[in-house]
Amino acid sequence: MKNCPQCGADNDKIICEQVFHTILSMEPDSPKLQSEHFKTVACYIIQHPAIYTDEAIKALVSALRDNLNHNVSVSEILKRHSRIFEGTKRVRKNEGAAFVQKKWSMTIRDCCVTNDCESTSDNIVKWAKSIVNDWGAV
Ligand SMILES: [Zn+2]
Repeated sequence: MKNCPQCGADNDKIICEQVFHTILSMEPDSPKLQSEHFKTVACYIIQHPAIYTDEAIKALVSALRDNLNHNVSVSEILKRHSRIFEGTKRVRKNEGAAFVQKKWSMTIRDCCVTNDCESTSDNIVKWAKSIVNDWGAV
């Protein structure tokens, strides 16, 4: 069995990145799944942080927590964290820097249900909550 070096999920038959792209490709078919787009991307990055700085990941966890627990809208989050979420200005780690691997109760592999956008988006919300819980206080 081969595990994802970043999130620890079983990557034997399919890798996390493929699952991530599968979920994104399902979004146009489902407004519900589309509305969880921020969570999908944030969760994926938090569990695959190798190219991001610790600061960027911490900010993302706190944005995810605000979105889940305090109903802070995605547009407000983007405003607060624009520096981090502007694709071209991502703060990247120095090459070769080590990343922290945590023990996660859910990974992207637990989220994607083939051809079922409804269940997949419910799973994304569960995944986001589990990440905030696993992370603890920042
Ligand atoms: Zn992974």
